[in-house]
Amino acid sequence: HQNINVALIGNPNTGKTSVFNQLTGLNQQVGNYPGITVDKKLGFCKLPNNIKANILDLPGTYSLNASSIDENVVIELLLNKNDKLFPDVAVVVTDVENLKRNLLLFTQIKDLEIPTILVINMADRMKRKGIFLDIPFLEEQLKTKIVLVSTRQGIGISDLKNAIVDYKNLSTEPCLNSSTIDTEYFDKLRKAFPNQLLYKLWLVITQDVNFLNLERNEIRSSFTKSHSDLKRLQQKETIKRYQFINDTLKIGQKIDVTKATDIRAKLDRILTHKVFGYLIFFGILLLIFQS
Ligand code: GDP
Ligand code: MG
Repeated sequence: HQNINVALIGNPNTGKTSVFNQLTGLNQQVGNYPGITVDKKLGFCKLPNNIKANILDLPGTYSLNASSIDENVVIELLLNKNDKLFPDVAVVVTDVENLKRNLLLFTQIKDLEIPTILVINMADRMKRKGIFLDIPFLEEQLKTKIVLVSTRQGIGISDLKNAIVDYKNLSTEPCLNSSTIDTEYFDKLRKAFPNQLLYKLWLVITQDVNFLNLERNEIRSSFTKSHSDLKRLQQKETIKRYQFINDTLKIGQKIDVTKATDIRAKLDRILTHKVFGYLIFFGILLLIFQS
């Protein structure tokens, strides 16, 4: 039968290309700076039970509110169900040290109702930084399968393969419903376009870029909402998403610097305290000398 389509999606520098290399056995260049993957790269992967997968390494993107060409590559793929490479499963790759920021994109992908796996990469850094994750809690809140990975130590890759094979059992439930953002407005949208995925519409109308022009103009002309209203909605969406992410991480993630084994993480903490201490000390000295 057909290969499973897997798309690797995530913020720049989260380790997408490293995961791609481990899955495919290829050796794409891994970068220390963002934006090195300028277009999608395709590779193949043999999974358990003789199943095969097409693995797509996509350019890094911060959100689906496209503003750059890199981000458009991702959005165009995700909005086009007829694309030969339209993902059966989206693997969102995140960096354990930047979970909060990375999860914004994750919640947007989830809301497209595509089967999604959340890879939390760089797991080798958790101990050093004193990061503790409550994986079952996070899985429940984010309605997703989570795989802890360290491409550096080769940990979690076989778990990821198993999760991909099992993609039909992945949840497609959105974790944040767009309608919680502006109920009245989205009710109107839903009524006007009953056959289209609500989130797709949301993306199309909030794009400033030049694709899907036709659809967008059609939708725009159907609504009297001004452009600034749409922008405001987009900001509202981002705020709502971060509220949700903050609430989730408050319980699901503990960062205890005192337990960090990395000396630098500890020093950072001590130094910021010391710097403040010195500033106050010298401030007082200055006051004494001036008076
Ligand atoms: P991409 O921009 O998402 O494709 O990320 P890359 O695969 O290019 O990796 C970005 C940086 O993260 C590189 O310097 C990698 O060496 C590093 N990196 C990737 N995976 C891991 C990991 O599991 N642990 C650690 N410590 N670093 C990693
Ligand atoms: Mg890359």
